[in-house]
This record gives sequence, C-alpha cells and structure tokens, in this order.
Amino acid sequence: MTAELELYDVTIVGGGPAGLYAAFYSGMRDMKTKLIEAQDELGGKLLIYPEKMIWDVGGVTPIRCDRLIAQLIEQARTFEPTIVLGRQVTGLQRLDDGTMTLETDNGEKHHTRTLILALGYGVPRPAKLELEGADRYEVTNLHYTVTSLESFRGKRVLLSGGSDAAVDWAMELEPYAAGVTMVHRRERLGGHEKNVRSVMESTIRVMSPYVIEQLHGEGDRIAAVTVRRVNAVGEPTEETERLEVDAVLINHGHPGDFGPIADWGLEREYANIRAYERMATSLPGIFVAGDTASYPNKLKLIAGAFNDAAVAVNGAKLLLEPGAPSMAYVSSHNGLFNERNKALAAKQRS
Ligand SMILES: Cc1cc2nc3c(=O)[nH]c(=O)nc-3n(C[C@H](O)[C@H](O)[C@H](O)COP(=O)(O)OP(=O)(O)OC[C@H]3O[C@@H](n4cnc5c(N)ncnc54)[C@H](O)[C@@H]3O)c2cc1C
Repeated sequence: MTAELELYDVTIVGGGPAGLYAAFYSGMRDMKTKLIEAQDELGGKLLIYPEKMIWDVGGVTPIRCDRLIAQLIEQARTFEPTIVLGRQVTGLQRLDDGTMTLETDNGEKHHTRTLILALGYGVPRPAKLELEGADRYEVTNLHYTVTSLESFRGKRVLLSGGSDAAVDWAMELEPYAAGVTMVHRRERLGGHEKNVRSVMESTIRVMSPYVIEQLHGEGDRIAAVTVRRVNAVGEPTEETERLEVDAVLINHGHPGDFGPIADWGLEREYANIRAYERMATSLPGIFVAGDTASYPNKLKLIAGAFNDAAVAVNGAKLLLEPGAPSMAYVSSHNGLFNERNKALAAKQRS
C-alpha cells in the first residue's frame, strides 16, 4: 500500500475557515486527520480579501485577513494533520468494508473512514475578462485580485465591476492610485448605499453602463483600454472612449465550481449541500461544514463555519465510535493541552 493510501479517520475537503477549524477540532477528538485543498494555499475565500480588516469573529479584535489566515493555519496544524495542497477532490469510491477512497484531479487516491466537505462554493476562481488574448497580460498588469494595495501606488487603474466588493476595492485603491476609473455594465453600482455614495463623492470616475471592449498592448503590458457605452439591456451603443492605463483590475465575481462532486448524488438545496443532524449529508459517512452547508438559519460567516466544523467533526467521531462523548472535552480542561500549556506558561514567564 502506498503512503497516500494510509487510512484516515476523517478527510476534510477544503482549506477555508471551516476546513481549517475542522482539522484542529478533529485533533481534539483524537482522529487521524487529512485535509485536501485544491488551491496551492490554505485560506479559502479569505485569500480573495487578504488586506481587509475583519471585525466580526467572536473574541478576535479587528484583524487583517491575512493575519487571521495565518492564525487559522497555525491552529489547524496543532495536532499535525496531513495537509495536501493543490489537489482537487473529484472522485469517490465506496469499499466493501465501509471505508471510502477519494480521487483527486491528478489521479491520486486517498483512503478515509469519514469525509467532511468544507467546499465553500467550490474552488473559487475569478470570472475572467472575456476578451480573446486577455490572459497574456495576467503576468503583468491584468489583475483579478488585490493582494497588495501598495503595488497600485501612483498608477492609473481601470477597475471593471460594480459589486459591493468592486466598490470596496475602488475606495481602498483611491488613496494609492494616481486615478481610479470604474467601468460597470449596469446603470447603477451595486453594494451598500453608503459605500456607493462614498464612491460618487470621491475622485473615482464611474462609467456606467460601460463595458471593456478592447485592450491595447504595448510589449507585454496593457497600455490603454477602449470602453463602450451599452444601453439598459446591455446592447452596444456608438459611444466609445480610449483610456490610458497602468493597471486593469477585474472584479466580475468568483463563481464557485463543485466540479465532479456535484455528481456524487448528494442532496442539494439551491447551490448548496443539504445538512442534517450533526451536519450529516444524505450520503453515509459524509458530513458538510461552512458555506457549502444548507440548513435553516445557516450563518454564512467565518464564525458560522467554525461552529459547523466542530459539529461535523463530532458527527464523524460518533459515527466511528457511537459510545464516544458527543463533543470534545473543552480545551480549558482538556488533558491534551497539559504539556503545551506548561510550555506556553514557561514562555510567558521568560
Ligand atoms: C469579499 C468577501 C468578504 C467577506 N468578509 C467577511 C467578513 O468580514 N467576516 C466574515 O465572517 N465572513 C466574511 N466573508 C465570508 C467568509 O469568507 C466565508 O463565510 C468563509 O470563507 C466560508 O468558509 P468555508 O471554509 O466554508 O469556505 P471557503 O472559504 O470558500 O473555503 C472553501 C475551500 O474549499 C476548497 N475546495 C472546494 N472544492 C474543493 C475540492 N473539490 N477539492 C479540494 N478543495 C476544494 C476551495 O478551494 C476553498 O479553498 C466574506 C466573503 C467575501 C467573498
């Protein structure tokens, strides 16, 4: 048997807040744990907004998202789970002994007794600018996310999109950029009224309804963009304008993709996976957590993902050991942490 076919008690698919917290909590339940993430980095959707401040996680005072990701990862590694990056889980096979084999997009196999799907909306991939040849500028000045505001300093930025996130980005870029032009295909910008008002009162130029029609390259970079006015139903008008730019930023959303998991036969509710008691899905041995899960009053927040994760892990534990306590012993009284607490106390004294 190859190393990758070692049997795990639980395999978590997805390395966003739900998957990372599940990886920690399953260690508290003494379960042999593996986490598989499709992207090359852990963090899930948090990777879309690394420089944003997060205020609404209980007990965590305002924290930059990239810092929160780092802390989540550190916590997830507490009990040293196996972490596999850059592999999208695609296939599922049930074996006669009740265990499951997962297959990833490169053909690797993973053997597990239970499964927690923490998929978010699927692998988040930015909707690309639909212009032929646009992808060649992705290595230079065509961007789909803002990983560093500083990198836009002094630049003329054209931002395409009109969602809440696009409005947010425009406001954050304004103090850094030499100028920000927003191009939006609808008449009005989306998002919270207060934010839209802030954009309208700022130096940001809003062109709506307009769409990007052509990128004009100079060497390997975009030097200018032609935009075209469209009418209320999105049809092109005669009106165009050429804008000189240093950077083009596209925010057309991050449609998720469950990939082949969508065909596993899981009961779905809208785009999500239906969760039952202890976050069980309609398929035996498979649990769900985080934004993927659908149940009444589901909280689609980081805090909600944590709660789902712990409940799903408890569900998996009870399936494997029906006599086990219904939840882990609280961390403040859990012997698992005795040695670590001594080490932490010693560190704090020194
Ligand atoms: C712009 C923006 C701002 C936000 N701000 C806040 C905020 O301030 N506070 C807050 O609480 N929430 C906020 N949220 C919501 C929060 O990000 C989500 O609720 C949270 O990320 C959900 O975590 P998750 O683990 O369920 O899913 P995700 O974070 O989406 O993670 C899912 C992971 O699963 C992986 N995956 C999917 N399919 C597979 C597969 N087949 N194989 C392997 N891996 C797979 C994906 O690549 C992804 O990494 C915000 C969301 C956005 C988009």
